Amino acid sequence: MDEAGTARSVVASREPSDPNRELWWAHTGGGGGNFGIVTRYWFRSPGARGTDPASLLPPAPASILTFRVGWSWDELDERAFARLLRNHGEWCERNAGADAPGAKLFSILFLNRRQAGKVELRGLSTAGPDAERLCHEHLDALNQGVGAACTRQLETSTWLRFALNPFPELFRAPGAENASFKMKDAFLRRRFTDRQIEVAHHFLTRTDVDVPGGMLGLATYGGKVNTVAPDATASAQRDSILTTSCNAGWMDPSEAERNLGWVRALYRELFADTGGVPAPGEASDGAFINHPDADLADPRWNTSGVPWHTLYYKDNYPRLQRVKARWDPRDVFRHALSVRLP
Ligand SMILES: Cc1cc2nc3c(=O)[nH]c(=O)nc-3n(C[C@H](O)[C@H](O)[C@H](O)COP(=O)(O)OP(=O)(O)OC[C@H]3O[C@@H](n4cnc5c(N)ncnc54)[C@H](O)[C@@H]3O)c2cc1C
Repeated sequence: MDEAGTARSVVASREPSDPNRELWWAHTGGGGGNFGIVTRYWFRSPGARGTDPASLLPPAPASILTFRVGWSWDELDERAFARLLRNHGEWCERNAGADAPGAKLFSILFLNRRQAGKVELRGLSTAGPDAERLCHEHLDALNQGVGAACTRQLETSTWLRFALNPFPELFRAPGAENASFKMKDAFLRRRFTDRQIEVAHHFLTRTDVDVPGGMLGLATYGGKVNTVAPDATASAQRDSILTTSCNAGWMDPSEAERNLGWVRALYRELFADTGGVPAPGEASDGAFINHPDADLADPRWNTSGVPWHTLYYKDNYPRLQRVKARWDPRDVFRHALSVRLP
């Protein structure tokens, strides 16, 4: 929308000669609700040429192996829990590169509260005939020295069957559509320290609060994502090894305060060394705008002195602000974490 308040429809592309290229760039990680209303996307892999749709995007894998793993909390004392997290973090440190042996495997470790009964892992591999071996290597590396039994369920399906209904127990859980949910995430460049693992254990096992939907998630990260320059797109985080999220979910509005209190305190304690947030530095690298968290703009929860927009966009923020000035000079598209006019 221009200065006069007139809305226009425009096409922006990655072509260097496109006068609207900066608007395209801003949409490669610049978050929603900042510049206008997106009505359509056309996707192409970098370097793709021509118009044949079959050659414009990476081919879908021939098959997908999914795996579901569970450890009973009854078998995880504090030592075993710490070993599992250390193993997991070290696996991520070894496998975040695009050519790493585990590059074709993704998993999320769901560290549910002890009161929920189980710690779980969900993951998948697109390595075709090597997928099963990769999966067992991943699980063996995680279990090394833990000394707790775990259940393993592996399933192979076509890519399409998986894509149409991935992990229904996570994304279509009964009742979830009416639930409230708070997620506070962080990019990590190093595995959690032993102090952070102690904090996680304390918050997941403490019995003085009733937070059945509380959870700490650890997702593997990297691969090709880490081969792109930080300023090539608006997504600045390009060398993380995993992403972590502190979550709480509840059904009744009267439970909000208790759940929010727990999840905010967990996050603040995990990142206590950097002002309660994952400030960009040796160990962490900010947060992911697709999981927006207005607490990062609240001085009660962010005492780091690092502004929310640096946590999300790092050095790309001033460039996003210039795009904002050009395409939304009246700041029509505004919310708690929208890009501000320069
Ligand atoms: C269960 C769950 C799993 C998720 N998993 C992932 C994941 O694996 N990877 C990942 O990257 N993200 C993930 N997300 C986050 C999700 O991608 C973001 O929340 C995303 O922004 C949601 O898009 P939406 O269209 O629902 O937008 P909304 O939530 O409606 O809006 C998000 C923002 O975009 C703006 N917006 C909406 N539509 C438009 C439009 N047409 N043009 C411009 N701005 C618009 C809104 O104003 C708002 O600011 C997950 C979220 C959930 C709930």
